[in-house]
Amino acid sequence: MGTGDALVNNGETPMDLSFRDEDLAFQAEVREFIDKKLPQDVKERYDRGLHFSKEGQVQWQKALYYNGWIAPNWPVEYGGTGWSITQKFIFSQELGRASAPPPIPFGVSMVGPVIYTFGNQEQKDKFLPGILNSDDWWCQGYSEPGSGSDLASLQTKAVRDGDDYVVNGQKIWTSHAQHADWIFCLVRTDSNVKHQEGISFLLIDMKTPGITLKPIIGLDKEHTLNEVFFDDVRVPVANRIGEENKGWTYAKFLLGNERTSIARVAQSKRHVERLREIAKQERVNGGLLEDDRDFMRKLNLIEVDLMALEYTELRMLSMIEAGKKLSAEPSLLKIKGTEIQQRLTELLVESLGMYGAPYEALKKYEGRNEAPVGPDYAHGPMAEHLYLRAASIYGGSNEIQRNIISKMVLGL
Ligand SMILES: Cc1cc2nc3c(=O)[nH]c(=O)nc-3n(C[C@H](O)[C@H](O)[C@H](O)COP(=O)(O)OP(=O)(O)OC[C@H]3O[C@@H](n4cnc5c(N)ncnc54)[C@H](O)[C@@H]3O)c2cc1C
Repeated sequence: MGTGDALVNNGETPMDLSFRDEDLAFQAEVREFIDKKLPQDVKERYDRGLHFSKEGQVQWQKALYYNGWIAPNWPVEYGGTGWSITQKFIFSQELGRASAPPPIPFGVSMVGPVIYTFGNQEQKDKFLPGILNSDDWWCQGYSEPGSGSDLASLQTKAVRDGDDYVVNGQKIWTSHAQHADWIFCLVRTDSNVKHQEGISFLLIDMKTPGITLKPIIGLDKEHTLNEVFFDDVRVPVANRIGEENKGWTYAKFLLGNERTSIARVAQSKRHVERLREIAKQERVNGGLLEDDRDFMRKLNLIEVDLMALEYTELRMLSMIEAGKKLSAEPSLLKIKGTEIQQRLTELLVESLGMYGAPYEALKKYEGRNEAPVGPDYAHGPMAEHLYLRAASIYGGSNEIQRNIISKMVLGL
């Protein structure tokens, strides 16, 4: 029995972790594809933990698209691959192993599934192709000043005027809005009911008059975040997903997918490997770092937790495959996944000793000409460490995820 069969049985039979011949052939095919198609710059940035360049990311996503591999989790009828769990597992393992980034999540992992699940035929025809081929980039307009954890209190208003809504208000922390062609937005369409019951889900063209962006520069000194202002922005009613005032249902569905994709197991496995490579080279107290028992204990403990997370993720995938309903599983993955990411990047910085401290995100990029500080592998960890402080906040803070678990699993 291969991994997939064992997983679908969901723990009722012992797990056999060997791959079948056809799985090994698939693994070889994925490796060859990545070797040939992953642009070097995209690989290097992802490996170092630096932010993507849009150009490189589009090139890589289009390569996945032309091979039919951009959206493994979508139903086949909308452009999915129809892969078994084992194949999906192999694919994500191979992406991580090769430092190949997954597609930017806002289109493929977030709004795409909302559109094919709750949208009408016209919306599917209009939006899904651009998401799959990466011609249309999306951003997420959920959070507002004062409405983050308490998202349902959001105030951005959409008032019906003929065939349009007129939208006024402000979103904040909108990642990569400066690259986006479209924004999916939660807006208030009824203020006289319980908060959750007066929200609608709109798809808004970023070029619409009345939209302005203001950059927010992060702790890592990079521009990935934005404020987005809406001033009498006219949005066709045809761009509303599902029913008016039912947006909270679609919003929650999307958040489940978002939290699952934040776990980033394959990338964390690559970080563990990286730390083991660094430990073979860095010297400490007259010996190699890999001989430092305290350091290796920390690394091994993280690896054990990561392994447990990986099996939790696989169990969740097998539940989805078996048509079972999820409850707090995405919250669990989000908490553990982000804690592990933070522990790993903290240890990466620690492993570099004094070379870990300088902030050198721009090493080879953007015309830098002074000599870098420290060995080549020292460039990136501090930038990623700083950015990932936010991982326990974005996608819904980890405290809120604990509240969800206490309610849904413990019944508190
Ligand atoms: C890097 C980054 C990228 C982001 N990208 C996006 C994006 O693209 N689109 C988008 O819409 N949003 C985005 N966000 C926003 C993110 O979803 C919110 O920051 C998050 O939901 C927390 O909301 P808040 O910042 O308003 O904090 P608050 O809700 O004010 O929370 C402040 C603190 O109080 C705690 N807290 C609040 N309520 C409770 C409670 N009931 N129980 C226990 N603790 C509580 C929180 O855990 C947190 O520690 C991003 C955020 C960051 C940092």
